[in-house]
Amino acid sequence: RFITFEGGEGAGKSTQLRQLAAALRARGIDVVITREPGGSPRAEEIRTYLLAGHARDLGATAEAVLFSAARLDHIDRLIRPALERGAWVLCDRFADSTRAYQGALGDVDTGLIDALERVVVGDMRPDLTIVLDIAAPVGLARAAARRGADAAPDRFEAEDVGFHTRLRSAFQAIAEQHADRCVVVDADQEETAVAAAIAAIVEQRFEE
Ligand code: C5P
Repeated sequence: RFITFEGGEGAGKSTQLRQLAAALRARGIDVVITREPGGSPRAEEIRTYLLAGHARDLGATAEAVLFSAARLDHIDRLIRPALERGAWVLCDRFADSTRAYQGALGDVDTGLIDALERVVVGDMRPDLTIVLDIAAPVGLARAAARRGADAAPDRFEAEDVGFHTRLRSAFQAIAEQHADRCVVVDADQEETAVAAAIAAIVEQRFEE
């Protein structure tokens, strides 16, 4: 089983991913948790580059290609081997983030995004994608609180409410287009309530 978590800043992806992993492990399931950009040594190097300030000059199309290169290595070295040995893979962000950030927000040509996804992801599409949905100001306030008020965000747009409002719409549109694998979860609830909602979705989807 391959499950991805998507959403904007402060939606709680990492927290919820860890909670689901713990719940599955408690049932004796072999679970691998990972993240994008990153997840393999080379992909983590690309992450470091992409999240550093100088990558801003690169442009969204070149970014999309780099995110995809990182994803290819991540799939080959970690995701596919784990799935083949029967583990469940839980991934914090995946190809939908490229479609939202570089595609919808960065205006990268949809044909290119589709082509990159076809070549890089191929049949390694997630079985389930949890889209954590939260209003931009709420998510941004959470992310700022977690970082500490003075620390800078990863990326220059990370504190922009307008950007995050458009990002939220982009993820909602992706979820509608891929309703077979995407489920939108209201992330503006207590952490335990969100975790319970996700656990119920996973149970319904994967257990008879
Ligand atoms: O999820 P996480 O906070 O670790 O993501 C790191 C940063 O990378 C985020 O601030 C996000 O804005 C950015 N990102 C991006 N394009 C992607 C994936 C992540 O700009 N395809």
